[in-house]
Amino acid sequence: MSHPPSPFVDTLLRPLRDLRISLTDRCNLRCTYCMPREVFGKDFVFLPRAQLLSFEEIERVARLFVGLGVRKLRLSGGEPLLRHGVERLIEKLAKLQCPDGQGVELAMTTNGVLLAKKAQTLKDAGLTRLTVSLDGLADATFKLMSDSAATVSSVLDGIAAAQAVGLAPIKVNTVIKRGVNEHEIIPLVRHFRHSGIIVRFIEFMDVGSTNGWEMDQVVSAREILDRINQEYPLQAIAANYSGEVAKRWAHQDGGGEIGVIASVTGAFCSDCSRIRLSTDGKLYTCLFATHGVDLRDPLRRQCSDGTLTRLIENTWAQRSDRYSQLRRAATLRPSRKIEMSYIGG
Ligand code: SAM
Ligand code: SF4
Ligand code: SF4
Repeated sequence: MSHPPSPFVDTLLRPLRDLRISLTDRCNLRCTYCMPREVFGKDFVFLPRAQLLSFEEIERVARLFVGLGVRKLRLSGGEPLLRHGVERLIEKLAKLQCPDGQGVELAMTTNGVLLAKKAQTLKDAGLTRLTVSLDGLADATFKLMSDSAATVSSVLDGIAAAQAVGLAPIKVNTVIKRGVNEHEIIPLVRHFRHSGIIVRFIEFMDVGSTNGWEMDQVVSAREILDRINQEYPLQAIAANYSGEVAKRWAHQDGGGEIGVIASVTGAFCSDCSRIRLSTDGKLYTCLFATHGVDLRDPLRRQCSDGTLTRLIENTWAQRSDRYSQLRRAATLRPSRKIEMSYIGG
């Protein structure tokens, strides 16, 4: 997929292409690498409803972004399927058109627990792409990673339902944490071979301030690939587009494709064209940003499209983030990073 030239770029000449929208900061799982139960248990204070952007507000912001060259909208969270009536928002977003008349790519990342019930309505509403997170095939591993009573079969049923209604492409995201689920790499690859579904292994990242991240818990993309290659020989394949975060590999025997996302050991900041809209309407220009630019207040003060567009343009024009490239510099470590569930994964 090639991109037409973008009208504007940030300080490192990166175009704005991709808007991720967090629909809720809540989740029905408590993945230890994202929302650990000790912190996000029953007493954690989630945002009150009035602070969430409404669907009308999200649609308006998304429309302005699409007018500025954004091609891809990804609904995330927290768990996006917990947002009541999410299909209504998808219907609105699916109607947006890029300035060249093309439709937008409308994607969702979900933990899949509620997907079996929702797949048909999501498809009917106009969702085009789907990523389902799944960190293991054994219930014991799934429980260790997600710290919940949900089952692997509920997620697999969700994936099957999504395939049955024709949602495509479907990808599976797997975060690998050393000593917890590395043994699931080969079973996951085996399970999804010849299925048309692409499993992408993600290095455990130091996002947020609560997951107790340590470098020795990261299993590198190199190590993940070596393990797979020993069992299933792979060959590298070209990126679909510039800025694609997953490196693509194909089974040499025609069994399909896998991906690895070296978010720690192979920073991809130089191509990063993503911006995030938090649940309460703040713009974050990096997953590791500590401050967001508020859009909710100007939205609710009935500011014009022109004013909002200038705010977005200025935010992007000033962007210089490249946290992953600088991660090893001790001086960079911000004391408090924003949680992924709030900012939109
Ligand atoms: N709840 C949905 C889900 O899990 O798919 C959407 C939100 S979740 C924050 C989005 C993605 O971020 C998931 O694929 C999850 O595995 C990934 N993620 C969360 N915390 C992470 C971390 N510390 N390192 C790497 N990936 C992470
Ligand atoms: Fe929830 Fe997704 Fe975070 Fe897991 S990764 S706790 S499913 S938001
Ligand atoms: Fe983009 Fe920030 Fe991640 Fe670098 S660290 S790839 S700039 S989100």
